[in-house]
Amino acid sequence: MIPSVLPTYNRAPLNFVKGEGSWLVEADGRRFLDFGSGIAVNALGHGHPALVDALTTQAQALWHVSNLYQIPQQQALADKLVAETFADTVFFTNSGTEACELAVKMARKYHYEAGQPERVEIITFDGSFHGRSSAGIAAAGSEKMTKGFGPLLPGFVHLPWNDQEAVAAAIDEKTAAILLEPVQGEGGIKPMPDQDLKALRALCDAQGILLILDEVQCGVGRTGRLFAHEWAGITPDIMMVAKGIGGGFPLGAVLATEAAAAGMTVGTHGSTYGGNPLGCAVGNAVMNIVAAPEFLAEINRKAGLLRQKLEGLVAAHPEVFEEVRGSGLMLGLKCKALNADVVKAGYAAEIITVPAADNVIRLLPALTITEAELDEAVTRLDAAATAVAAG
Ligand SMILES: *Cc1c(COP(=O)(O)O)cnc(C)c1O
Repeated sequence: MIPSVLPTYNRAPLNFVKGEGSWLVEADGRRFLDFGSGIAVNALGHGHPALVDALTTQAQALWHVSNLYQIPQQQALADKLVAETFADTVFFTNSGTEACELAVKMARKYHYEAGQPERVEIITFDGSFHGRSSAGIAAAGSEKMTKGFGPLLPGFVHLPWNDQEAVAAAIDEKTAAILLEPVQGEGGIKPMPDQDLKALRALCDAQGILLILDEVQCGVGRTGRLFAHEWAGITPDIMMVAKGIGGGFPLGAVLATEAAAAGMTVGTHGSTYGGNPLGCAVGNAVMNIVAAPEFLAEINRKAGLLRQKLEGLVAAHPEVFEEVRGSGLMLGLKCKALNADVVKAGYAAEIITVPAADNVIRLLPALTITEAELDEAVTRLDAAATAVAAG
């Protein structure tokens, strides 16, 4: 008999009942160090007082009014994002997938309004992840995500990850945009090198096409800058944001330049819940903390420490780990052992990590992690690796 919850998830037998900062408490009382953060969602850890206060204060006042009316919390968050980024304008969604939908629509509408309606194709890359909607799976294109779900949304061109020549050769009169994650998350923590991101930006400018960045996982302070593309000194035309921006409350956004958004006039897009007062109250609280230069500097300091400790861990367990990679507090351990076995051994050692493609385990601690917790994490990962090596 089919389970009452549609069985699309492979769940670990863990039942968390409370979160406190970087810690998750299991129903049986065990305390797990959370190096997954709900896949980079709980950016400020669990139960951050500023977020709890923002949500509960808003919940006492007003939950929902519809985008038919003014939503001051939404206006304030849009103003903040515009002030802190390349963007001139913001549309709020409830998820990264919905942000992907709008990014695709916006890019096509841009060329349509510019008198080039044939420019509909979006170049994407192997290993990418843009959500599970029809556009999202067509964008990623992997057999794992698309098999049996055809006909797929047309208009996506899939290229090998980081092959600049292939990109240059693929652009033609039908190309609308290039879409990529500056650091691939699900694909196995693969950063696009700065010089290659710069080259893609230059290519887009030369060809009159748009650069869309998916910063759903790598954005909102995760890499030590507010958004990951800032490391390369470039800006996108359109950017997808979600996960960390809501700190655990469902919230996403599409940020865009005025030019890229030119086609999105009244009535061309909408959402019932997107940008509702609850989500935006929390989003404002997240941005107030994460966008502060001192907070970002602290992320970089801790990221340096963690990376150094992880290099030591890899050196100590060459039969389990191959390398450390990633950026800031978005790190991956490429495994020699089966990554699922390492994640499982982590559970036994009471540390949460997240598997990714390419036999990687992801380390995505809360951005508020303490130095003592970093040490504790490496101790627990060491115990997990020892157990894996012992078979
Ligand atoms: C998680 C993720 C998405 C999808 O976001 P949802 O909120 O699950 O819809 C899209 N892109 C990237 C890079 C992601 O990590």
